[in-house]
Amino acid sequence: MRAIVLDRPGRFRVAKVPDPTPGPGQIVVKVDCCGVCGTDIHIMDGEFPPTPYPITPGHEFAGTVAAVGPEVAIDLPLGAKVAVDPSLYCGYCRRCRSGRDNLCENWAAIGDTVSGAFAEYVAVPAVNAHLLPDGVDGQLGAMVEPLACAVHGLRRLGPLFGDTVVLTGAGTMGLLLLQLLVHAGAGPVTVVDRVADRLAVARKLGAAHTASGLSDLDGERFEIAVDATGVPAVVDGVSGLLDRGGRLLVFGVSPAEATIGLSPFRVYNDEITVTGSMAILRSFAPAVELIGSGAIDPRPLLSEPLPLDEFGEALHRVRTGQGIKWHIKPS
Ligand SMILES: [Zn+2]
Ligand SMILES: [Zn+2]
Repeated sequence: MRAIVLDRPGRFRVAKVPDPTPGPGQIVVKVDCCGVCGTDIHIMDGEFPPTPYPITPGHEFAGTVAAVGPEVAIDLPLGAKVAVDPSLYCGYCRRCRSGRDNLCENWAAIGDTVSGAFAEYVAVPAVNAHLLPDGVDGQLGAMVEPLACAVHGLRRLGPLFGDTVVLTGAGTMGLLLLQLLVHAGAGPVTVVDRVADRLAVARKLGAAHTASGLSDLDGERFEIAVDATGVPAVVDGVSGLLDRGGRLLVFGVSPAEATIGLSPFRVYNDEITVTGSMAILRSFAPAVELIGSGAIDPRPLLSEPLPLDEFGEALHRVRTGQGIKWHIKPS
């Protein structure tokens, strides 16, 4: 089969590699669509430490069941449409045993630490596959993974009682978080992004207000701030807009060594809550439901998928902020 292979950071090729065969408990998925995400850029640039090279990346994907290995206990008929939760965790470390699989001491993921879905076929644990409802095509199915991350983020934030929200970053994750916030009963959501086209999509998806920079919001106060940029100065700035009793969700990925200047006095005196959210925790099945029911509609975020040969072009478009979400269709 054909697959993207990253030999080392900064160097990839479209390669001929052996077809995967399903081991015990595994299925092979024929990949329909696989999303390009910020993590893929970090893997490409050698900035995602657990990555072993060479690797085939790709962790946001859906396809059809092409082969079923031995010792698969669940019913996954050949040809069934599935989306795959890329999370791999050990199940026996202290955190797994306390229900925090996403913080597993032996955490791994399909497309991040083992072969992923920028390939015609990928072998995955059968228990990671989720059947897709009718009407959910491969490209929508490939949006389940990012939505599952956003669902976990919203759970981390806790209940919403009509709270006013400021959300920074209107890329894929920001716009999914926006839809979830609206769906979950947040009050008016103000979305901040430098790119006017993205703000137009945000308004279409339920943003009450939009702004091109935090300085436009001087003097305003919000009960919830959600950062989906990962830019430390933006996280710092948006936390300054929190009202007393406010909650901050740090969702975007900042550089590991970055710090912000959040005032401990404010955290104490104003009872500010700061919450992080890492990947997926039992939020994949709910994300399948949300897309299947149409409650969350990722279609305004999507561009026409590109073939495997245009993987480099897809990376370029993500890096340069063209469009919102790009997918590769390997065959
Ligand atoms: Zn991703
Ligand atoms: Zn574990």
